[in-house]
Amino acid sequence: MRYCTKCVVPETRPGINFDDRGVCNFCRYYESLDKIDWEGRRKQLIDIAQEAKNKGAQYDCVVGVSGGKDSTYMALYARDVLGLNVLLANMVPDGITEIGRHNINNLQKMGFDCFMFRPNPKVCQKVAKMAFYTWGNPVKPSEYALYATPVRAAIMYKVPLVIFDIETTTLDDDTEDKNGGDASRINEQNTLGFSGDSSHLLCDGVTAKDLIPYHYPSQEEIRQSGVKMIYLGYYKRWSPHEHAMFAINRGLHIRTDDALELGRYTKYHALDDDTGIMNQMLKHMKLGYGFATDEACADIWAGRITREEGVKLVREYDGKCGVKFIKQFCDYIGITLDKFWNVAEKFRGPMWKKNKIGEWILKDPIK
Ligand SMILES: [Zn+2]
Repeated sequence: MRYCTKCVVPETRPGINFDDRGVCNFCRYYESLDKIDWEGRRKQLIDIAQEAKNKGAQYDCVVGVSGGKDSTYMALYARDVLGLNVLLANMVPDGITEIGRHNINNLQKMGFDCFMFRPNPKVCQKVAKMAFYTWGNPVKPSEYALYATPVRAAIMYKVPLVIFDIETTTLDDDTEDKNGGDASRINEQNTLGFSGDSSHLLCDGVTAKDLIPYHYPSQEEIRQSGVKMIYLGYYKRWSPHEHAMFAINRGLHIRTDDALELGRYTKYHALDDDTGIMNQMLKHMKLGYGFATDEACADIWAGRITREEGVKLVREYDGKCGVKFIKQFCDYIGITLDKFWNVAEKFRGPMWKKNKIGEWILKDPIK
């Protein structure tokens, strides 16, 4: 397996490409951010906010929130810096964690109206099980609902603007901002990659009507509603680490689990849902890298750690997952641990081999 010579991203990451120096397109994209006219973009953002205010709607904008670091930052930025009357939209995860519950409450108590939408737990459980069996990714359906909820809230309450965090497709295909901050096709992002039609989630005992929360509005519906959707990360340089410090100073609770149980060395990601932790272990089996790789890359791009430090962190934490998280997921979908490993092993990628004592190891771990 080949890795970027500048960060720690492997060749198995969707949309990756390397130049002659072995540097990946993500690194090139982050280098290009230094040349962006951020002041110019800030002015564009102020114009967009003013345009939303001029519509005279009840709320000026919807911000989709989990109560985590980025959404706390976005909600306060929209209200306090852009001066917008914000409606928060929260898709309540099935099995929300105590920390997640605290954080969303903490954000609401900073003075917001919040539209809270909770999809049918019985359906959540069924589609998570189906997605685990089909794609080795039980989180996929809830991501659909997560992105659809703020858009639905905006259409319902006739709100002219929806603010999302940061585009990820931009980084996959090239080093240019393809959509110029327009988030209307957020459903096509690489993590989601679906047309909006959720019919492929149909499974035993789940009908089309059960899937309403997972159905992203069509481009036609979005156009007719007149709602504008933007990525704040296009207009304002994105810094998850700074957002975490910002939110912690305002009462955000972070994880207290051991880093080896989380498979990541920071404690401020995946706060409201435990399945995401286990899902990164599954990604590690499938693609040979997990969340520690993602966060080390982000820290290298931001200049906070060296590649050498990143390599060390990846080797220590990547793909690790506490048994408690796996067990919890098994109980949730009603299978045994043996059955879990049986299914999970079907998705193991070709970058693995067994060592002398029969343990799976990466053929080419990062060096
Ligand atoms: Zn790179």
